[in-house]
Amino acid sequence: MARFIFITGGVVSSLGKGLMAASLAALLQARGYKVRIRKFDPYLNVDPGTMSPYQHGEVYVTDDGAETDLDLGHYERFTGVSARQSDNVTSGRIYQQIIARERRGDYLGATVQVIPHVTDAIKEFALADTDDLDFVLCEIGGTVGDIESLPFMEAIRQLRNELEPLQTLSVHVTLVPYIAAAGELKTKPTQHSVRELAGLGIKPDILLCRSEHPIPAGERKKIAQFCNVRAEAVIPALDAPSIYSVPLQYHQEGLDTQVLRSFGITDAAEPDLSRWEDVTDRYFHPEGEVTIGVVGKYVGLQDAYKSLNEALVHGGMANRVKVNIRWIDAEVFEQDDGDITSQLEPLHAILVPGGFGERGSEGKIASVRFARERGVPFFGICLGMQMACIEAAREAGHAGASSTEFGATDEPVVGIITEWMSKEGLQQREAGGDLGGTMRLGAYPAKLAGNSHVSAVYHGATEISERHRHRYEVNVAYREALEKGGLVFSGMSPDGLLPEIVERPDHPWFVGVQFHPELKSRPFDPHPLFDGFIAAAVRQSRLV
Ligand code: GLN
Repeated sequence: MARFIFITGGVVSSLGKGLMAASLAALLQARGYKVRIRKFDPYLNVDPGTMSPYQHGEVYVTDDGAETDLDLGHYERFTGVSARQSDNVTSGRIYQQIIARERRGDYLGATVQVIPHVTDAIKEFALADTDDLDFVLCEIGGTVGDIESLPFMEAIRQLRNELEPLQTLSVHVTLVPYIAAAGELKTKPTQHSVRELAGLGIKPDILLCRSEHPIPAGERKKIAQFCNVRAEAVIPALDAPSIYSVPLQYHQEGLDTQVLRSFGITDAAEPDLSRWEDVTDRYFHPEGEVTIGVVGKYVGLQDAYKSLNEALVHGGMANRVKVNIRWIDAEVFEQDDGDITSQLEPLHAILVPGGFGERGSEGKIASVRFARERGVPFFGICLGMQMACIEAAREAGHAGASSTEFGATDEPVVGIITEWMSKEGLQQREAGGDLGGTMRLGAYPAKLAGNSHVSAVYHGATEISERHRHRYEVNVAYREALEKGGLVFSGMSPDGLLPEIVERPDHPWFVGVQFHPELKSRPFDPHPLFDGFIAAAVRQSRLV
């Protein structure tokens, strides 16, 4: 029988509920329990796939091809458990499902309503496929009091009533602000938030209080008294020096102990925290540092490249170095005064990440050229690999080389894919078709050339599986021309039609991948490509 932990947030947004859920799951896992984390997003988009990264941050993609909230990335990075389509649901998806059922006539005769139809669908989602788990953590997006999240709160209230008495738990994350003028921490916002939650029929068992200052015992007691929670269950959550210190920090504050106690579990094993001790040791005690330039488009908002940022940090942990990331707007290199040499020369490696649209593409291509000519380690991811191929084609004499993503072209080195094989069979798309959920998404295998650099990076593997999210592909018709110019196609789809990896054997480290390796990197298991890329940057740092 799985136990359910419902995580809500109050007072303000951006309290880090996702990290909290991920850290609690990691602590329970460290005690030997089997965990899974789910995210409920109250907005009306069916999934975040069509939202701008500026709106929503990165879109995280699962093995089974779901486009999900970036919190699922935290969940995977902290637990190592691969998320699935069924771990993220939005109001949009729930309504889509209910309306489709209504049109089919499934509810014939009934009035379709938020209660019970929407709440039943939410409960179904929370409970599905949980038999083999010990704990299911359900994080509700948004803040208590939002109109959008009401059906989710109501579903939790019902579940807490319907499941066994010690089978559910409510964790509420709040803010205890420090008012400088008064020189005091204030508990009133937490009291209001708990009252709001109680008004919806949910009494929290654990309060996790985010604060910039230590919360004195007296204030904890006050919160406990006013909010009807045990004093030990008021857990201070101070700002952490790194997200990777959060599990150890919350453990010290007693979070996992109090969660187990609230469930009435008294015989839990002590947690084995060695994994987190090693991760924090590597993070806080580097033996050197490197500076990586990421030449992209959404550089103003780091959440847009969340997994990439973390994967670079993991690569640093693997090599015991600190990774400084310089975010560079590719468009700068398209302006007359955008001096590419002075910006890129001090860097130890250059990465061109994934992205969409033409804006900044010439600046990215110029960065690829700089890395190639100067022998600077280069890593191109998805759009970054496509730019590397266009650069190589132009170098090989195809002056008009471009991508059909940017408009009609006579030299479509990158073009829309209209047919490909997936586990579900032949996929077909048309140019100008629906944009939501129609890219090549999720895990696909790639075959690696035996004597290639990437095969060595992947520890001698000949077949790998990586996650995709793109609509365009490098055009295999240009393979011969590009290989003549020194860009080798070292990874291909099993049918040999879709280029997955390109590399330059005559360069210190030059790799382009059509997939997103950053999605599978974990702090305790850094992705081999990021490990290798940072190792190359370390070598480069000794040269410059
Ligand atoms: N825009 C490109 C495509 O759709 C690359 C996508 C990406 O980098 N994720 O193919």
